[in-house]
Amino acid sequence: MMHGQRTSPRHEYLLQEKQRVLESPSLTEKFRALKSLTVDLSHFDPEGRTKNSQIKYTVNLEHAKSVFRFGCHNHECVRGDFDLSAVLAEAVAAHQTTVSSEMVCQGWRNRAGVDTIPCRNLLRYKLTLEYGARRA
Ligand SMILES: [Zn+2]
Repeated sequence: MMHGQRTSPRHEYLLQEKQRVLESPSLTEKFRALKSLTVDLSHFDPEGRTKNSQIKYTVNLEHAKSVFRFGCHNHECVRGDFDLSAVLAEAVAAHQTTVSSEMVCQGWRNRAGVDTIPCRNLLRYKLTLEYGARRA
């Protein structure tokens, strides 16, 4: 433990968000009808031209939390990230089987840029959902 060291705004935010995720129910608990969920995430720079990474995977509904968020790829980003919780909740409520759109990071580019320089990294996402009959 360091004494007298104040945590950075970035660190504080990440801890707080981590806690929010931990305290949320799992996807299985929250969305009983959801049988499977696959996410396809592409991270872009703010101009949307340079793809920094792409990941596609099937979400483990038992373990994944219903505060459904993904980290911004800007490692200095402050109070940003991508929260798809509402997108997912709406999709399930409407029984949609695919949702694709994009989201702009609402954080700040770095610590020095807080309140002045937005991050604006871009996440393009596609969610593929399957619904089951009532679980036994
Ligand atoms: Zn960001």
